[in-house]
Amino acid sequence: MVSYKELGLVNTREMFAKAIKGGYAIPAFNFNNMEQLQAIIKASAETKSPVILQVSKGARNYANQTLLRYMAQGAVEYAKELGWEHPQICLHLDHGDSFELCKSCVDFGFSSVMIDASSLPYEENIALTKKVVEYAHQYDVTVEAELGVLAGVEDEVASEVSHYTKPEEVVDFATRTGCDSLAISIGTSHGAYKFTPEQCTRDPKTGRLVPPPLAFDVLDAIMEQLPGFPIVLHGSSSVPQEYVDMINQYGGKLPDAVGIPEEQLRKAAKSAVCKINIDSDSRLAFTAAVRKVFAEKPGEFDPRKYCGPARDLMEELYKHKIINVLGSDGKAE
Ligand SMILES: [Zn+2]
Repeated sequence: MVSYKELGLVNTREMFAKAIKGGYAIPAFNFNNMEQLQAIIKASAETKSPVILQVSKGARNYANQTLLRYMAQGAVEYAKELGWEHPQICLHLDHGDSFELCKSCVDFGFSSVMIDASSLPYEENIALTKKVVEYAHQYDVTVEAELGVLAGVEDEVASEVSHYTKPEEVVDFATRTGCDSLAISIGTSHGAYKFTPEQCTRDPKTGRLVPPPLAFDVLDAIMEQLPGFPIVLHGSSSVPQEYVDMINQYGGKLPDAVGIPEEQLRKAAKSAVCKINIDSDSRLAFTAAVRKVFAEKPGEFDPRKYCGPARDLMEELYKHKIINVLGSDGKAE
């Protein structure tokens, strides 16, 4: 048993309480490799933003859970080295799908876990979530649960259609499970193809797809039921067109990739939404930068020469999200 507290990590409780009061949201960035982690920590340290490092099931399969945990521990020390005196870094399991997996993360130094039992029938979702909460809370590890179903593909979590969270269920769910935060479905979606062209309209000037707006009425109804309760948005990448264009310009093929417009995320961040998950955007930035180097310098074969620019572009992206979208800069001095 390793406690996250020994590693210098923090859970989400205080982060979320402050974020709701302050009208901003904490960035939750997924990571699978060193360059991503370096970029996340540099961006957070330089902007003094609290940050959630997320490890998904796919990341665990790709990079190994043990290695990722030690990387997160290293990230705390790296942050201090960068001059961030009191780093507010949370290590979170994204989309845990079983009690055993959540338990192993709690035992292994994670400060927060998500149990995603949203695909199960309501009562089974409650039972499994409650079991995880009872275990995690013994070690002061916070638990995110999910109610409602998001469309799209994220690693091994996939669903064809979304089902909005039912506001009439949230009080019963939160009370009976004791979860610390709730991921809801209001129209965000996993991946870089959040909407089909049929779901969108087209901007006549640019020819680009304009996605349908998020269901803010559902969010409002949830907040009315659970005042001040931490709400989480998954699948909240914006799929910046500049990266999509760069990828396509340098030999890639991402037709009609579309995300959540940033002004909608800005609006959400000001509400009880206090954690916004961003994964696809950093994948796009990484890929765009690597493709550019490969196209412009076909003789290059030193990974540092293409992973380096990828890291720089991701850092720029993370800073942009922190400062211009979530408003979390300067909140962890
Ligand atoms: Zn997710």
